[in-house]
Parts: sequence; structure tokens; C-alpha cells
Amino acid sequence: MPTTASSTLVTASIAEMRTRVASVRARGQRIALVPTMGALHEGHLRLLDTARVHADLVVMSIFVNPLQFGPGEDFARYPRDTEGDLAKAVGRGVDVVFLPAVDAMYPASPRVTVTPVALHERWEGAIRPGHFQGVLTVVAKLLHIVAPDVAVFGQKDIQQVTLVRAMLGDLDFPVELVVAPTVREADGLAMSSRNAFLGAVARSNALALSRALFAIRDAFERGELDAAALERTGRAVLSAAEGVTPDYLALADPATLEPVERVSTGTVAMVAARVGSTRLIDNVILGGG
Ligand code: AMP
Repeated sequence: MPTTASSTLVTASIAEMRTRVASVRARGQRIALVPTMGALHEGHLRLLDTARVHADLVVMSIFVNPLQFGPGEDFARYPRDTEGDLAKAVGRGVDVVFLPAVDAMYPASPRVTVTPVALHERWEGAIRPGHFQGVLTVVAKLLHIVAPDVAVFGQKDIQQVTLVRAMLGDLDFPVELVVAPTVREADGLAMSSRNAFLGAVARSNALALSRALFAIRDAFERGELDAAALERTGRAVLSAAEGVTPDYLALADPATLEPVERVSTGTVAMVAARVGSTRLIDNVILGGG
């Protein structure tokens, strides 16, 4: 089996992945899985740190999942940097990197997928039809292959967290979900693999997303509880920026992501916008992260 100097196992093989976790489980040790699509940044690496707190063996999967990209989306041009990713993940102490090929995960067109029947109608699910079916299907497959005790996801993709939590509960996956806070650049921009697409001007315009959320958070902390007023505050920031086309900006219930009229601690402020040709999302939890 291929191993790096630090004894990280790097494998593309589903069988080898299963064997590795089976031997660890046989010793009574705990396993954590951090699913990613690679082009790793500090946000991903913090998920590894979080995973380490919960498990003896930390597995990171890197798989750009074609099933979760719609026609005309950025599957083909999604950033890929396997060598750089391995250096970063190994440097952060990962135990196993699982890099399956598309043909191994989908040897034929799937006959069975995991399709949400709720929680997907709005926001990302509305703009990206079929996206969460692709996400849940690949997450279910990865959970079956790695069989972790804990799966670590980022709050950055909050609707994904909501749907994964629903899948784990509704389909009785024996997996604990751990959600890690969003990691930001020093100026507030949420880290994202897609930030690599931003030129200098777009990078600066993209700050409108986090600024809009921070403006909402500040207004909440000053006592504003009316969602429509908070939304206006955020939209004013977005419309003041050049080249930023909002898809949505909303105040939503953290459990259902349904819009709320009055906000309270725990309400999610979330935004999606196109900055030039790059689509970015971000959120903050009022009174929290
Ligand atoms: P991705 O590779 O974009 O599919 O993301 C893989 C995991 O990393 C998901 O659980 C994301 O929510 C999480 N993630 C992405 N960006 C960040 C960030 N800036 N902070 C924390 N987690 C993140």
C-alpha cells in the first residue's frame, strides 16, 4: 500500500480504505471522516483539527463529485491540486487520504440515489436543482466506505449541514455529526476553494458578502430583531459593491432554514451571490459563530 514518509496512507482504492478502517475499528479505536472536494485551504485543515479531537484515526476524502454539479456548473474547471492537497493534509497530521476516481465511485450511471424530500427547496437547492441529491448520495457512499464514528462538516455550507443531519437521522446512520465554524481570511472573506477564481478586483468586491452578514450581525447586536429590517441592512451593503449579483440574502431558522420574521440568538443570516463569474456563499449565526 502506498504510504508517505509520515505514514499517512494515501489510497484511491475502496477496498484498501475499508481494510484500513476495519483494522483500526478492531482495536476499538474511533474514526473520523472529513469529506472534501480538495483544493484545500485553512478551513478544510481546521476540520482535520476538529476531527482529531473526536477520533484516533482521521480520514480525509478528496473527491470532486460530478453528481452534485449541474449542467453548466463548474465541475470541469473546479480547482484540483492533488499534490498540494496531500502536502497540506499530511502536514496537518491526517492519517488517511482517500482519493477515489470517479469511475470507482460511479462505475455506471447510478440506479439509486439519496433524494431529499424536504429542506432542499430553497436557497442552494432552488438555484442548483439536484445538487443536494448529489451531495447526499456521495456522503452516504463515503460513510458506508469509511464507516466513521464521526463526520466533520463546515458551517460554511449550512444547508448542506442541515440536509446531512436530516439524512443521518432519517436513515439511521450510526454517525455523529460535528459542525466546525467557518474559517475566514483576515479581512473577513470566508475561505473557499472557489476564491481561487477571483482576480484582484473580484476578490475585493467579494468582501461584500461577509460585510453584509457582519452588518446584519452588528444591527442584531444593537437590538434590531425585525428580519425585514436586517435584510435591508445586508442588501444595502451588497448593492453598494461593484459586480456583485445576489442570489439570496435571508434570515432563517437554524433547524429548517425557513425564513423568519423575527430573529433571535441562533438565527442564521445567509447570503449567496455571484461575483463576476464566481458564485460564493456565506453565513453567520446571530449571537454565535
Ligand atoms: P468542499 O471541499 O468545499 O466541499 O468543503 C469540504 C468541507 O469543508 C465542507 O464540510 C465545507 O463546509 C468545509 N469548508 C469549506 N470552507 C470552509 C471554511 N471556510 N471554514 C470551515 N469549513 C469549510
